[in-house]
Amino acid sequence: MRRVTALCAALMMGLLLFSSCGLAAGKRLSVFVSILPQKYFVERIAGGYVSVSVMVHPGASPETYEPSPRQMAELAEAQVYFLIGLPFEDAWLERIQRNNPHLLMVDTRQGIELRPIDGGHHHEGGGHGSAQQGEVMDPHIWLSPVLVKRQAETICMTLATLDPANRDEYKQNYRLLVEDLDAVDREIRSILKDVQGKKFMVFHPAWGYFADAYGLIQVPIEVEGKEPNARELAQIIDFARREGIKTIFVPSQSNIKPAETVARAVQAEVVQLDPLAENYLDNLLSTAKAIAAGVR
Ligand SMILES: [Zn+2]
Repeated sequence: MRRVTALCAALMMGLLLFSSCGLAAGKRLSVFVSILPQKYFVERIAGGYVSVSVMVHPGASPETYEPSPRQMAELAEAQVYFLIGLPFEDAWLERIQRNNPHLLMVDTRQGIELRPIDGGHHHEGGGHGSAQQGEVMDPHIWLSPVLVKRQAETICMTLATLDPANRDEYKQNYRLLVEDLDAVDREIRSILKDVQGKKFMVFHPAWGYFADAYGLIQVPIEVEGKEPNARELAQIIDFARREGIKTIFVPSQSNIKPAETVARAVQAEVVQLDPLAENYLDNLLSTAKAIAAGVR
């Protein structure tokens, strides 16, 4: 309950600053998020009452993103930033808060137990806050629908507190989103029921929480967040051959050369999975289908 109390305290602080800055009555809340799936979550809950800006635009990398001067200026007009724990947030958070003392920073990792990232992967930009000493935690918490329910609860609580006039609407929308997440979760379980315990090879380890939720083992090609060197690449190729890897999954955002090298060596197919799609529910279902087809 400590986390909830902390959120309430943070919200109260935000509200105090808020009222002193004076959001005009009837004005729409303006919200920032880091990535497109979060935009989907906020818009599902907020309906038309909130305008949402996304920091990392499509095609850019959430590992190394740098906000544009225009985005830095737009933050001055926003009331809330929903953080999710990406490396670029850590690098920019202090500056954003210093330039915008009125901006309420809400961490949607609260209530979520982070896992260490697969492959000793190290996202550029440094630590991830709650990581234990020497352990890099996996920031891709939006790729498990079960964990998204918790993120949605944080978003809903925040909007309902900042905009109590529309509280009932937010809560109702939140419940509908949870129903959809539960339905997708059930469907993914059924899609993946025959590939339990199987390994799937990815270039970038975005799917760790997804793998944990559905009984799969993610094997990344990236080492420490970087392209593997020649020796590491040879080891990965050996591993892929031993394991009979037939598919290598790559995100559309990255340089996939090493993935293609491994694929050629073991005659595997390269298939794209998008960890940042805005059509969140459909994208998770097609991800599950692609993995089910790729690991058989
Ligand atoms: Zn990533």
